[in-house]
Amino acid sequence: EPQVARDDVIKGTDDDAIISKLSAVNLGYLDDPFVKHFVKRPSRRPPLINRGSYLRTRSLDTFTEQFIKSDITQSSRTTATAPASATTQSASSPTSTTTPAAAATAGIKKQIVSLGCGSDTRYFKFKAKGLSAHKYFEIDFPESTAKKAVVIKKNKAFTDIIGDPDLKLGLGGTELYSKDYCLLSGDLRDFTESIVPKLNAQGFDTSLPTLFLSECVLIYIQPGDSDAIVNWVGTNMDASLFVVYEQINPADAFGAMMLRNLRARQIELPGIHAYPSLKSQEERFTSRGWQAAHAVNMNKLHESLSEQEMKRISSLEIFDEVEEWQLLADHYCVAWAYQAKPRQSELHRAQ
Ligand code: SAM
Repeated sequence: EPQVARDDVIKGTDDDAIISKLSAVNLGYLDDPFVKHFVKRPSRRPPLINRGSYLRTRSLDTFTEQFIKSDITQSSRTTATAPASATTQSASSPTSTTTPAAAATAGIKKQIVSLGCGSDTRYFKFKAKGLSAHKYFEIDFPESTAKKAVVIKKNKAFTDIIGDPDLKLGLGGTELYSKDYCLLSGDLRDFTESIVPKLNAQGFDTSLPTLFLSECVLIYIQPGDSDAIVNWVGTNMDASLFVVYEQINPADAFGAMMLRNLRARQIELPGIHAYPSLKSQEERFTSRGWQAAHAVNMNKLHESLSEQEMKRISSLEIFDEVEEWQLLADHYCVAWAYQAKPRQSELHRAQ
């Protein structure tokens, strides 16, 4: 089976993700006015899927919010040891509002890099709430970024948020460049050779604290290629937080069924065999010299929702598939890792 055909199937996985996200938005699980622009044919998803999309989005939102708002050294050290905090932050509740002043408290310039961004709207959602990074880079295959660039460029809802009169399309319409937002096209399997130079050309700075997000992405590429990304980031960035969301536990009955269903749609998850457990997800970082790593499954994150938030989402639709939910949630995890080089001043003191 040719690689191109396989890649097309993988690009298609984003359509699924964004339709599910819109379903969760429309039911009130999530608050995001940008998602609808990426969906031509909305469809309501089953409660299980809605809850999964909600929790996945919410947990990565929480990391992003903590990263933007706080001193990276503190925030990542705390999150690396306190898994429950990934969803308990009240500020990340879809119902709460964040004041623009909050963004200013951080003070330090930071970057966010979304690997395999698909139609993700996090940059827009956060900036609309006054939370932004110095630079936000998104990367996906050219076919995916071209579609995204068109939607963004032609919608005032998006261009107003970018707020840069010099917003430019590039590389045959597959890339977008602005002061703080860059959509870049490329193949993550060629990270060091082709993605890094593109980032550099757009003002990427390895000395700035940087959040790398990989939401259902690394799992689709061969472990050798995803390891190369983790290695590069760990070696070259002065301070970074890496957050991964993906499937685990392929070997039990549910996991085998999950893989069979995907295979029926010609979707393979090569990453799941290299990182099948919470422990191995942590080791994908710690074995490569990262300072701290932690992985939790989605049941754990679900349980850590506040009583109030649980009550709120329970009121949105009938949800009686509790056992199925627990099984499903046991097969998805969030892993995060932290790595920082000693500051120059610390080096001096050590000498
Ligand atoms: N991160 C987005 C989200 O959570 O909504 C999209 C997730 S979608 C399941 C996976 C995305 O990863 C797709 O947009 C796909 O094109 C992208 N992707 C997978 N392998 C890639 C590669 N080798 N290079 C660039 N993008 C890739």
